[in-house]
Amino acid sequence: MTASFRFTMSATDGAARTGTVHTPRGDIRTPAFMPVGTAATVKAMMPESVRATGADILLGNTYHLMLRPGAERVARLGGLHRFMNWERPILTDSGGFQVMSLAGLRKLTEEGVRFKSHIDGSVHHLSPESSMEIQRLLGSDIVMCFDECTPHPATEPVAAESMRLSMRWALRSREAFGDRPGHALFGIQQGSVFRDLREESAEKLRAIGFEGYAIGGLAVGEGQEAMFGVLDYAPGMLPEDRPRYLMGVGKPDDIVGAVQRGVDMFDCVLPSRSGRTGQALTRFGAVNIKNARHLDDPRPLDPECSCPACSQYSRAYLHHVFKAGEILSSMLLTWHNLHYYQELMQGLRDAISAGTLEDFARAFHARRAEGDVEPL
Ligand SMILES: [Zn+2]
Repeated sequence: MTASFRFTMSATDGAARTGTVHTPRGDIRTPAFMPVGTAATVKAMMPESVRATGADILLGNTYHLMLRPGAERVARLGGLHRFMNWERPILTDSGGFQVMSLAGLRKLTEEGVRFKSHIDGSVHHLSPESSMEIQRLLGSDIVMCFDECTPHPATEPVAAESMRLSMRWALRSREAFGDRPGHALFGIQQGSVFRDLREESAEKLRAIGFEGYAIGGLAVGEGQEAMFGVLDYAPGMLPEDRPRYLMGVGKPDDIVGAVQRGVDMFDCVLPSRSGRTGQALTRFGAVNIKNARHLDDPRPLDPECSCPACSQYSRAYLHHVFKAGEILSSMLLTWHNLHYYQELMQGLRDAISAGTLEDFARAFHARRAEGDVEPL
């Protein structure tokens, strides 16, 4: 544990916690949502706009950045923060998940993974050691262990073998990471939906020791009920005094349920990706701005939202710029969606501090159940 990276908890409410992850590049208020900046940009957003939505930290993708523009180039240009003009904390994933989902012709061995780039077919290699080196070159503040995201569904023997490989890689990641004051390495719990395997994974990670712990291998198609089933016990297996990060989650109701079960950090492409496909995520649930019902609607998307899309434009205009294929459509809806996510996180933090999380969650679900406002 380095002196300049630490987690302080200020309140709990049931299993939920609120606090602060302190880093030399600034504080991260938890529960936190990290917008995804895949290729050194949160698509359709300026960094200052992302900050204006309330984000304390961004996520960058090692797989994408190592292929283009390349980690060495980013390092020569002063590191990822300077390169993309985001001075606050950045978390990078290890590249493992995207190698599995995007790259062609993979070969997985004890050593690591050989794969072909989805961009130009060139051959690359990722291992715990090379992933640590790439994330160091990028300059990320929170580095993730290199692991194998166990596919779903997996039988227990397959999930066990995959988890144990990830735990051997976690030890190699820890050794390769070395001593880097102010930077953190997070271990990743695996074990699919099997409680014994989750416990074994947590034990192995605790024995190695990390600055934070992620819950991996969820949100891979198992569904919310199965995910919550794992989250009923998995966070409690991880050290209480370290941040817990649920990777790749999620929809607003996934986040609320996971916070209630003790998760502190989240990332997901959903708000930014939905913003580019005409889907607004609101207190009333998802609103499809493509729908013809908005053609003549002069009302804001959400009158209570203070984002630019809601405070300065009508539903009719948002519908129009989407239909016309205007770039502004992606910009406005992405801004709204990220703003909505950050407001949700603030609401969760306030509710945990006040000891009213259950009421907050009840109101959250009730508003969504009402659905969108009636058409004019
Ligand atoms: Zn809005």
